[in-house]
Amino acid sequence: MSDAYGQLLDATIQHLEDLKSRGVRNVAVSPETLRSLSQPVKTVSAPAQIPKLMPAPKISAAVPASTTKSAELSLALPGEAAPAAAPLDPKEKAAAFTALRERALACVKCPHLASSRKTVVFGVGTIDAQLMFVGEAPGADEDEKGEPFVGKAGQLLTKIIQATGLSRADVYIANILKCRPDTPGQSAGNRKPTSDEMATCIPYLHEQIDLIRPKVIVALGATAVEGLLGKTIGITKLRGGWKTYRGTPLMPTYHPAYLLRNQAMSEKRKVWEDMLSVMEKLEMPVSEKQRNYFLKP
Ligand code: URA
Repeated sequence: MSDAYGQLLDATIQHLEDLKSRGVRNVAVSPETLRSLSQPVKTVSAPAQIPKLMPAPKISAAVPASTTKSAELSLALPGEAAPAAAPLDPKEKAAAFTALRERALACVKCPHLASSRKTVVFGVGTIDAQLMFVGEAPGADEDEKGEPFVGKAGQLLTKIIQATGLSRADVYIANILKCRPDTPGQSAGNRKPTSDEMATCIPYLHEQIDLIRPKVIVALGATAVEGLLGKTIGITKLRGGWKTYRGTPLMPTYHPAYLLRNQAMSEKRKVWEDMLSVMEKLEMPVSEKQRNYFLKP
């Protein structure tokens, strides 16, 4: 993809996100524009990627050749059902994901984070995952390694994933923020992302989800829920109840860092019960032993 095209694409996505944040739900698009989105673009080396790089599931209007009226481009908000999308071609999907990753790795939209970060922590796992985990933001370990959830909380998340019978390679793990929130003047510790940082970074996550199309999303902690659903209700109230992110079932649960701070068996059990619900939703086998994890003997 050329730089100019990447910039145009970024500007278009940003413009649509701005409209969406101002409450606009539908945008009139001429039939010619819609048709051009689904046709190869001559100036781009891998033209087949183009339609998929736009928020593909949202471009739902099929325009008959004879149509002269503008079609509507749906701007579904997080939490609203997205229209059913056509299956993605695996090669185009992989190419679109690579292009998205490249854009994210080069991102400098938050200059303070771009200058303080060591790496951009894009995400890890398979792009064909049925199950996706979303956390808050990279910490120091993640910033160092360029991979989400590799520190202490990450090791606990890995154990939770393994307890379901899956591995990190079977799922996809990402964060609301791709850069570590800076902590000027502090030698250690993390901070919660600001709402501006979240609003700036979230389009990357939306595109990741649009391409991966997981069957279930697990939101780890209040910030992940806030980023995905725009809800600021406490995680204690939300956890364990199914929500929907653009038509995809979403399970809010505690962040593993909370379990590290609160080692009570009852809290571990709550997270495990949320994971049992997830396993059931994915029609995964659940053994008697798994069903009884973290229950008092
Ligand atoms: N906490 C998060 O929310 N994300 C990480 O990647 C690591 C810790």
